[in-house]
Amino acid sequence: MMAGGYVSVNVGAAQDANAIPIAKAKADESILAASCIGCGACVAACKNSSAMLFVAAKVSQYALLPQGQPEARIRAKRMVAKMDELGFGGCTNTRACEAECPKGISISHIARLNREFIVAKLRD
Ligand code: SF4
Repeated sequence: MMAGGYVSVNVGAAQDANAIPIAKAKADESILAASCIGCGACVAACKNSSAMLFVAAKVSQYALLPQGQPEARIRAKRMVAKMDELGFGGCTNTRACEAECPKGISISHIARLNREFIVAKLRD
């Protein structure tokens, strides 16, 4: 989370929260991603000990919202780098994580994390 699982807050004049239109479908998907409780069941279920579902949920919850865009380029790179540093394995799409997740987090978030990461690397 320290590597990028946060959003910047502009401490200037307060903005009306309703002034930033967000499509309901995106808001709903972001909230679903944010429902990850960090239990680690996905990592425990994965034969590779991959933390991709957990990290993808954290990246997704911000990637879907305008408030998450200021750090979008660094978030995916830093969180993937931290995952590698801590020794978690890679995702091989077995979907064991999705089956065990008590919050029903979809592996579609892993696809979003991969897109966020690739786009960030291409912009380097
Ligand atoms: S199993 Fe689901 S709720 Fe638990 S850490 Fe993984 S993605 Fe989050």
